[in-house]
Amino acid sequence: MNNQSNEQEINRKRKNNMSEIFCTHHENLRVEEEGEDKNDLTLRLMSFRPTTRPRKQSPERNQSNLPVGLPSFPPPPLPMSQSVSVEPVRGSLRKRRNPSKANNKDGNNEIIHPPFPWATNRRATIHTLDYLLTKKIITISGEVQCKRCERKYQMDFDLKEKFLEVGTYIAENKSAMHDRAPDIWMNPLLPTCQFCKQENNVKPVFSGDKNSINWLFLLLGRMLGCCTLDDLKYFCEHTKNHRTGAKDRVLYLTYLTLCKQLDPNGPFDR
Ligand SMILES: [Zn+2]
Repeated sequence: MNNQSNEQEINRKRKNNMSEIFCTHHENLRVEEEGEDKNDLTLRLMSFRPTTRPRKQSPERNQSNLPVGLPSFPPPPLPMSQSVSVEPVRGSLRKRRNPSKANNKDGNNEIIHPPFPWATNRRATIHTLDYLLTKKIITISGEVQCKRCERKYQMDFDLKEKFLEVGTYIAENKSAMHDRAPDIWMNPLLPTCQFCKQENNVKPVFSGDKNSINWLFLLLGRMLGCCTLDDLKYFCEHTKNHRTGAKDRVLYLTYLTLCKQLDPNGPFDR
């Protein structure tokens, strides 16, 4: 490779540094998991990457916070080549079913007005990371309130940075969780109040309407444990997790399912 293209390469990497870290992280996970299956891996990673350039170590990449030696986890159910398969055109065009009635039997696919730009029109469902980045949605906001000074304000999370943290934690610890949320998820460390500076004291605000729970914000802040058991059961009910049980079980399912919604190819199979 000549110098000029090398330099372009580095510039592109600088620009997409976070994305690069994220993808690299994923790749590390997958390579450990799948070993020889690199072609398949490349296909799936393409959805995260703005270009299909060859991979190369970048000097400014800071991976010091990333774990090494992640535990194994089950492979994703479908490689991309299958999940994007196109159905052949059938003989006659039948009228589409009313979407609000689709699968109404178990109430999973009722159409709602998306409560946030990062939420879809299906209950308890968020868009994929890929979609959000394409739409330039890189900051996820939510309303919080301090338990001491009672000020309410908006808190922002960097989507990629926070998802990387959550995803890394899961990849590292999932095998030891045994389908139950760990204590740190059950009793999350809350943010410090930006006004009175009280530590561990800012809680997310819930409107009371389960349709407008800010699932992605709660995931990124690792504050899903602030949901009631009822909220979490609502989430599981509408995401085909028909399992009920103690809070640590439904909380675990909620974390894994939300991560899977964000990153369908990530290490988040339950
Ligand atoms: Zn405060």
